[in-house]
Amino acid sequence: MGELYADVIVDISHEKLDKSFQYLVPEKLRGTLDVGMCVTVPFGNGNKLIRGYVINIGATCKFDPARTKAIKEIIKNGVEVEDKMMALAVWIRRNYGCTMIQALKTVLPARQSVKKLEQKTIERLMDKEQILSLFGECERKKQTAKARLLRELLDQEAIPREWVTMKLGVSPQTIHSLEKAGAIRVVSTSSFRNPVKLQRGEESRNVLSQDQQTIVREIMEDFDSGNKGTYLIHGITGSGKTEVYMRLIEEMLARGRQAIVLIPEIALTYQTLLRFYTRFGDRVSVMNSTLSAGEKYDQCQRAKKGEIDVIIGPRSALFTPFPNIGIIVVDEEHESSYKSESTPKYHARETALEVARLHGASVVLGSATPSTEAYYRAKAGDYRLFTLKERLTGGSLPDVTVADMRQELKEGNRSIFSRRLQELLADRLQKGEQSILFLNRRGYAGFISCRSCGHVMKCPHCDVSLSEHANGMLICHYCGYREPKPSLCPQCGSKYISGFRAGTQQIEEKLKEMFPRVRTLRMDADTTRTRDSYEQILSAFSNGQADVLIGTQMIVKGHDFPNVTLVGALAADLSLNVGDYRAGERTFQLLTQAVGRAGRGALKGEAVIQTYQPQHYAVVCARDQDYEGFYREEILYREMLGYPPASHMLGVQIFARDEDGGRRLAETLAFDVKEKLEGMTLIGPAPAAVGRINDIFRFVFYVKGTNYDKLISIKDSLEERIQTMQPAGESVQFDFDPVNTL
Ligand code: ADP
Ligand code: ZN
Ligand code: ZN
Repeated sequence: MGELYADVIVDISHEKLDKSFQYLVPEKLRGTLDVGMCVTVPFGNGNKLIRGYVINIGATCKFDPARTKAIKEIIKNGVEVEDKMMALAVWIRRNYGCTMIQALKTVLPARQSVKKLEQKTIERLMDKEQILSLFGECERKKQTAKARLLRELLDQEAIPREWVTMKLGVSPQTIHSLEKAGAIRVVSTSSFRNPVKLQRGEESRNVLSQDQQTIVREIMEDFDSGNKGTYLIHGITGSGKTEVYMRLIEEMLARGRQAIVLIPEIALTYQTLLRFYTRFGDRVSVMNSTLSAGEKYDQCQRAKKGEIDVIIGPRSALFTPFPNIGIIVVDEEHESSYKSESTPKYHARETALEVARLHGASVVLGSATPSTEAYYRAKAGDYRLFTLKERLTGGSLPDVTVADMRQELKEGNRSIFSRRLQELLADRLQKGEQSILFLNRRGYAGFISCRSCGHVMKCPHCDVSLSEHANGMLICHYCGYREPKPSLCPQCGSKYISGFRAGTQQIEEKLKEMFPRVRTLRMDADTTRTRDSYEQILSAFSNGQADVLIGTQMIVKGHDFPNVTLVGALAADLSLNVGDYRAGERTFQLLTQAVGRAGRGALKGEAVIQTYQPQHYAVVCARDQDYEGFYREEILYREMLGYPPASHMLGVQIFARDEDGGRRLAETLAFDVKEKLEGMTLIGPAPAAVGRINDIFRFVFYVKGTNYDKLISIKDSLEERIQTMQPAGESVQFDFDPVNTL
């Protein structure tokens, strides 16, 4: 038997990962030594013994075998935090398919010195009475942005300037004019630490409802008796989930443990931040994409040192190096942004369970429309299910109508608005209430096709439809390729070449044709290029600066608009036709959320869903706000076709510069898999849904099977096979239980 060699890193940090040292695996450690283990090795000229971690084991010696030193011994318990990070990386590598270095780069923060960003804080100079009267004056003059800031200053003496501009959508000019009026001043705080000085204690603490109490009590009883479980709270927005999370976190802090709260970035609103800050003060920290790498690193250091105990943030907040986590909350657990889109393609919900296992922590998942995965596991008894049925904020569920657009056309209505929606829009405009028009636009809408021959205008590099923009240009949303819109079909010469379905811009135009005086705001990828435009549009709308907000799926998340009493979901089918197994689930979630936007305040709401498939269960159940009904249909379909969660799926993606080379590699690998199927199913290989991006060809095949471990061994054998082949122009990626069509 040949020798074995191990790559060892002696400094576990993001930056040093590429500097590993190779050691011989001595006879006595063969069979025991594994990737992720902590070892002592002789180092440098003096052969001083130091600690390191094994990140790879193989049979090739990269240097001179005669001069390669041997590992001394395995250390059972290394540095605790590092051991856990290492174990997590090993798990990610195994479950999602990547190298140990890629896995470690995912879980370790990049070390970077903190740029001493100047932090500015807005401080109140007047007393409450004065602020209140100024507030009243601004309200009367309809100076809504000013009023909004003053409203917050009634509760808080100081607010970070960044929150005011970003989350409250108040412009620098407005801040300046309040400064001139002597109401506030802007002060610089040189240190990044503790940027927030909010009033604590003023917060009126709610008495938990019976249902909320039950959840908190049972989870803590489990925790204290050593049963660290996973819990799913199914409750509509406003049913008190966040309040439950905060109580649980308090309980955990009292036991000396730390907490991680995952929230999709898009749902991380000012109100949410403020609630956590007022409750936990400077023991809480936020991790989001607006932080620099240095700031993120600094957060991690603070977590390690025990300066903070609660972190809120998207997916990556899961890797905060807390010493002893007690609870991990995954809010809006159904959100697809919890799945990483780059290797390792980990799912934060599943990874949270592993982090919790390593720490002996509880996991709480929350959603108004749970993912089919989570609900399935709750039904199977793996997770404990709690339901919160009532909305604590008042407001009732809206009345929903489904408009059959085929029927509309038959009866002579050629408009993009059904007659019912037109009536209701007119009514709301007349009453001065607000409406939302939601275009369910995922992927393939907005394309140009010929009604004569069916030719679709596509990007020559990416094989996706080009989208039409206002300036008459067709644009590729993957690579940015653009060309002018043709007046005649390049295929057949017909002049009937045009947009097949409306985008948000056309909807706005049509609306203005119908109601010339309507004030609109539009929110889509074009109007939210910059990082704060999103917040600004939302707050302009909540201040009544428009009658109708038109937008894509972005508008159905986060924010509450109490004055909205009408929601129109246009073209509900677009997402039904995306062509992957989650289309139904996604459509149901989006429609349910969209419909739920109407009638949040005191006024009763109404909603209209426009569709060409009025009988589809995703549409029908969204109309009735019937989650259970939807789940029953959906799980039947998943079981029948062997899709997750009824089964597991491994997607194997092949990327190649050369089309033939890519196809051949895909076929070779798929052929290999065929030998090892043992009851599993092979689908493909085929060109991927997007067959080419930036002149790189993509092929894909899938393996379906109920046993995840068997899929892992398929992945392992493919990895080995690829290593021996060493393809030059091609690369391969794995995606377990893919969330999007590959
Ligand atoms: P969710 O997270 O499900 O949307 P929240 O926890 O944000 O729900 O609660 C919605 C609103 O109800 C919040 O304004 C919150 O302060 C309030 N609330 C929560 N629990 C209670 C309670 N037990 N009594 C009164 N109000 C509550
Ligand atoms: Zn044509
Ligand atoms: Zn392109």
